[in-house]
Amino acid sequence: MQVDIYDTTLRDGAQREGLSLTVNDKLKIASKVAELGVAYIEGGWPGSNPKDDEFFARAQDEIDFGDSELVAFGSTRRPMGRADDDANLAALLEANTKTICIVGKSWDYHVTDALETTLEEGVRMAADSVAYLKSKGRRVFFDAEHFFDGYKRNPKYALEVCQAALEEGADCIVLCDTNGGTLPHDVAAIVSEVFDALGGDVKLGVHFHNDSGCAVANSLVAVEKGVTHVQGCINGLGERTGNANLVEVIPNLVLKMGIDCVPLDRLRNLTETAHFVAEVSNTPLNPHAPYVGAAAFTHKAGLHVSAISRRPDAYEHIDPELVGNSSRLVVSELAGRSTVMLKSKELGIDLSARPEVVTEVLTKLKNLEHIGYHFEAADGSFELLVRTAAGWKPDYFTLESFRVIMEKRADGGVATEATIKVHAKGERIIATAEGNGPVNALDRALRKAIGQIYEDLKEVHLTDYKVRVLDPDKGTAAVTRVLIDSTDGHTSWSTIGVSENIIEASWQALQDSIVLGILRSQARQSAGH
Ligand SMILES: [Zn+2]
Repeated sequence: MQVDIYDTTLRDGAQREGLSLTVNDKLKIASKVAELGVAYIEGGWPGSNPKDDEFFARAQDEIDFGDSELVAFGSTRRPMGRADDDANLAALLEANTKTICIVGKSWDYHVTDALETTLEEGVRMAADSVAYLKSKGRRVFFDAEHFFDGYKRNPKYALEVCQAALEEGADCIVLCDTNGGTLPHDVAAIVSEVFDALGGDVKLGVHFHNDSGCAVANSLVAVEKGVTHVQGCINGLGERTGNANLVEVIPNLVLKMGIDCVPLDRLRNLTETAHFVAEVSNTPLNPHAPYVGAAAFTHKAGLHVSAISRRPDAYEHIDPELVGNSSRLVVSELAGRSTVMLKSKELGIDLSARPEVVTEVLTKLKNLEHIGYHFEAADGSFELLVRTAAGWKPDYFTLESFRVIMEKRADGGVATEATIKVHAKGERIIATAEGNGPVNALDRALRKAIGQIYEDLKEVHLTDYKVRVLDPDKGTAAVTRVLIDSTDGHTSWSTIGVSENIIEASWQALQDSIVLGILRSQARQSAGH
């Protein structure tokens, strides 16, 4: 059996309170979700805001959708209007996607009280809109809004709306639990009744919100009852309590129910996709999230550590590699040591004969993590920690001092300037640079100071700069953690800084980033390419 996964992270997911995605963010997320191999990716609501218009204008040129298909979302025509001169439907066609999803009301109460029109007109709105979009050669999905609540109160009307959309050629009728309060046993009963009423061969989909904590369970129950299209969002993003979490729905369908919805080799991208979307949307992923969380396969097992490493299948519900995650052992001194050795080996540093270095790394790691460092997210800084513990002393440059000045003018203008004094190759160098912010100015000043000596630094640039306040209840005196992602076009690395002073935290991360940039370029040179 095959189920189409319909990702609505960019539209319904973006309704999450506090979430704001730029067009570039949306493009990045769309191309990441496409790597997962889901059937459909809903891009947004064309005509509703300039961001979504720009997204649709760019997405089809800039993104390789692979096996996924981009979908434009909108609503049925307005009450008492005509489909062929409806601005919303016109904008949907202009978005130029093969598939369009339109939402229409299937709860009588909403038709009469929210739309303030008659029930007959409610049915016609659905029918006309589907018919019009079908006449333009599009595949059309009909989202029956508030279907489950509507069905409980007036099943005849809820079905009538769906039937009308179906008769005009809708390719899938999506039953939506818009208020998110429906429980699995109701879903099972209602979905069966809908199949009975509309015919067993009708293509049904579902769209669940998570207000009763059952969105994923409801989606699975619906599939068990014959539904072959499931909507949801990466990491369960969405307004209120969110939408059905595709990061849970997908592996449950594939690995537990044996249902084909994304290819097995793509399923391995799941963990990366979840983390990527969390980063880009700035909505931190719960480390205890099923399947993809950092702790999802972490064992705090004490005496059983050796048993777990010998027989992981006895302690894990799936092989974590199937979803791109991995097992971790924590707590015991032993497990900690082996983790450090394993990671160091990955970096090309063999610590197997140097137990004292491992001890030092572990001690530093514990102390630093205690004050807010988080090396999981900063492989680059971890690498420097291991290298220095192993005896490496980077002598590329040493800081004498830096100073950052920011000026805010009455006309609204802001100017930032940084001056840095460093010693490099026996020279004392002073450089000043302006920037669009303190960190940017500091970055430029440092590069100006040592860029002549380390020419390859011009290839190195920062790709992301993230700030997280660690104990927000302290207000502006809280500790700040800065993460910087950098790349030299060959590899990328992440570095970290922690301080009560945001510029100091940024400097630590920046300094690590530049040191690694020089280290990488020198390693490439000595390898002869
Ligand atoms: Zn929704």
